[in-house]
Amino acid sequence: MLCGMFYDLAIIGGGPAGVAAGVYAARKKLKTVFITKDFGGQSNVSTGIENWIGTVRLDGVELAKNLEAHLRVYAADTVDIRAGEWVARVEKVGSGFRVTTDAGAYDSRSILVATGSSRRKLPAKGADRLEHRGITYCASCDGPVFAGKNVAVVGGGNAAFETVAQLLAYCPSVTIIHRGDTFRADEIIIERVLANPKTHVIKNADITEVKGEKFVQAIVYKDKATGTEKELAVEGVFVEIGSVPATDFVKEIVKRTEYGQIVTDPKTQRASPVNNGASPVNNGASASGVWAAGDCTDGLYHQNNIAAGDAVKALEDIYLYLHGK
Ligand SMILES: Cc1cc2nc3c(=O)[nH]c(=O)nc-3n(C[C@H](O)[C@H](O)[C@H](O)COP(=O)(O)OP(=O)(O)OC[C@H]3O[C@@H](n4cnc5c(N)ncnc54)[C@H](O)[C@@H]3O)c2cc1C
Repeated sequence: MLCGMFYDLAIIGGGPAGVAAGVYAARKKLKTVFITKDFGGQSNVSTGIENWIGTVRLDGVELAKNLEAHLRVYAADTVDIRAGEWVARVEKVGSGFRVTTDAGAYDSRSILVATGSSRRKLPAKGADRLEHRGITYCASCDGPVFAGKNVAVVGGGNAAFETVAQLLAYCPSVTIIHRGDTFRADEIIIERVLANPKTHVIKNADITEVKGEKFVQAIVYKDKATGTEKELAVEGVFVEIGSVPATDFVKEIVKRTEYGQIVTDPKTQRASPVNNGASPVNNGASASGVWAAGDCTDGLYHQNNIAAGDAVKALEDIYLYLHGK
């Protein structure tokens, strides 16, 4: 079902980036359709967020409620909120775009993609069943729950090493399990973490199974050199093997990195059209009509405040784009 309205802007995503953009769109009176599966985004699952500026501490559920309330108070008849809808496709149609969701289709002159990312899951037997039952993706949220327990951290980059560094404060042993032979983290943190006698390292290992009745009790890994399988008793598994941006639905229209992040101009958050050889930086007249903000972009740092700030930057630029035409 096509709703018939031609919106100025379609915002996709209800995390801090999308909601910041929505509030600004309402204030600027841009006729906007705001589409999101849910509110709050990734840190919904966090038990304690202590760096959302202006709020000393809140949990992810409160953050989600606050974001939704903020948008609804100012949305009025300017921002049309379509919560619970999932965007399947965005395509170029005439001078604008058509956004197709699982419930309908919306036409808009411009698009802001704020769909964030989700953590890469551990591809091992039993991992789905034991997610949030010992398998976790956030040491700063869940670390204290594992105090006094032996745990494993999967990965070999900075995120993995920072996770180990945090867990060493609570856990009697932390075992890093890495697929490769060499770590990709910064030397300084590798040295610091490996110098701690509570750190153990298993390299060249693929985790094949996570075992446990109700909660994690052990992992099974394959030693890639010998092909033999071994078991390690742990009560927690922290997975730090990267994240997957939710950007497939725009892959036909904007440039993405090899990891699927939308390439953006950090001054304006503009995305480049897929057929444009030029970088989005200073691409001026060749603006694609698509902007992106937050964790779905190739920005170097991904945090709640950054996502919100990037989205505000995008909104300022979208406003000029729409009114300069
Ligand atoms: C466990 C955890 C704890 C964290 N703790 C902190 C912290 O303490 N402080 C901090 O600053 N950062 C923290 N982060 C990082 C922070 O959550 C992210 O940087 C931030 O959420 C990015 O915001 P975003 O709006 O770009 O995307 P997201 O928060 O990922 O939001 C994306 C939104 O888009 C929606 N969506 C996605 N695809 C579609 C689609 N196709 N159709 C419709 N809707 C869609 C989703 O439902 C979601 O609402 C944490 C991350 C995790 C995973």
